[in-house]
Amino acid sequence: MAAAWISEQCKSAQSPPSVILLEKMPRPGRKINITGKGRCNITNARMWDEFSVHIHPNNQFLKSAFYGFTSSDTMSFFEDAGVPLTIERGQRVYPKSMRAMDVTDALVRKIKESGVVEVQTDCTVESIEKKEVFEVNCASGKVCCRKLLIATGGLSYPSTGSSGDGYAFAKSLGHSIVQPRPSLTALVPEGYADGAGMTPFGRWLNGLNLKNVAVSLEVGGSVVQEEFGDVDFTDGGLEGALGFRISRKAVQALDNGQKVAVLLDLKPALSESQLAQRIKREASSGNNTLKYLLSKLLPRQLIPPFLSLNKDLTLMHPGKAAERLPAALKGMRFKIVSYVGFERCVVTNGGVSLKEVSQKTMESKLVPGLFFAGEVLDLDGDTGGYNLQIAFSTAVLAARSALL
Ligand SMILES: Cc1cc2nc3c(=O)[nH]c(=O)nc-3n(C[C@H](O)[C@H](O)[C@H](O)COP(=O)(O)OP(=O)(O)OC[C@H]3O[C@@H](n4cnc5c(N)ncnc54)[C@H](O)[C@@H]3O)c2cc1C
Repeated sequence: MAAAWISEQCKSAQSPPSVILLEKMPRPGRKINITGKGRCNITNARMWDEFSVHIHPNNQFLKSAFYGFTSSDTMSFFEDAGVPLTIERGQRVYPKSMRAMDVTDALVRKIKESGVVEVQTDCTVESIEKKEVFEVNCASGKVCCRKLLIATGGLSYPSTGSSGDGYAFAKSLGHSIVQPRPSLTALVPEGYADGAGMTPFGRWLNGLNLKNVAVSLEVGGSVVQEEFGDVDFTDGGLEGALGFRISRKAVQALDNGQKVAVLLDLKPALSESQLAQRIKREASSGNNTLKYLLSKLLPRQLIPPFLSLNKDLTLMHPGKAAERLPAALKGMRFKIVSYVGFERCVVTNGGVSLKEVSQKTMESKLVPGLFFAGEVLDLDGDTGGYNLQIAFSTAVLAARSALL
């Protein structure tokens, strides 16, 4: 986006700057192609007040960048570049074509159209030194420049090119790195998988999509986050919109050695006493066995794992089990033992410390002429188009500041 924006700004400039984009992969923007399950949730159309609550760990850092290039600017930019957009539930914006590749192609077209930006692909930057100018060392040779933007992404899905190189470059130039951790990632419940792969418990749950459930994240025995929406179980573990939303705090807590559990309220619309009434009505048909009652209350696929987590109910007298059922349905408890790592997480939390970067320009406070943008910064968002907007807003601000 920084290169595309400069290309557009400078297309009729008398003496345009000399700009080089160095890209490790055969084509830029490989990660964009896999975003939004191949559809690319390009931004979120919410206004700042609602947008900003989805940005972590310091949304104020993004404010200037966002106002300089808002989500409406992103939308105009791509529509002008020939990518018609559509807004879906939750103000999520997608290309009408539903093809993430169209977004990447539009960016590459923009980058190339003015002839201002030279693109070098298959070019891995190996190290950066600051002498009189920046010396950027690649396998194929050295590039010298007065201003340098590091936009190498984080550590998630390293197969797309983002393997954390930017942290090493920033560190070598004197910057501090906030411990990178996977975020928006699957949480692995106890007993879900073992050395040989998924256990029967994991296989029961795998593929299950639960709509409109309430989720509580418990750390060290206290509830630290509550959410409402959809949860998916995959071969990785518990994920989906809600699983991802709680993963940030859960991963941090697990890394700190704290006890983590997820409680699913499978019947959030009913209070425990309303649920007890409903169960009484079902049981009055003459069948009050646990299996029968559950068949009336839960998707079939969920019954075996529910019983496996509530073995005590299966040992009780049916009447007693029915009495205990409402509480169990409103608090299906998964002890979380690990999480899926960088190889498959959506985003990295942590990165170049925001304290050492100017939020008004994206320039380093330590090294004049050095800029940062995107996921390499200690800035990340929830799912919903926030992460690409972080990348776009910070890229445009860095590019604008570097051109001054
Ligand atoms: C599966 C998945 C789905 C996602 N879906 C969405 C979504 O729908 N909406 C959303 O907002 N966000 C989504 N995200 C997050 C979003 O894609 C990222 O936050 C965003 O791409 C970050 O942009 P970036 O430019 O900072 O880094 P990246 O997109 O990772 O780009 C960094 C680039 O730098 C290059 N590079 C790295 N090191 C070097 C080096 N040493 N030399 C040369 N080049 C180098 C890489 O090859 C890469 O092209 C998704 C992420 C994943 C993994």
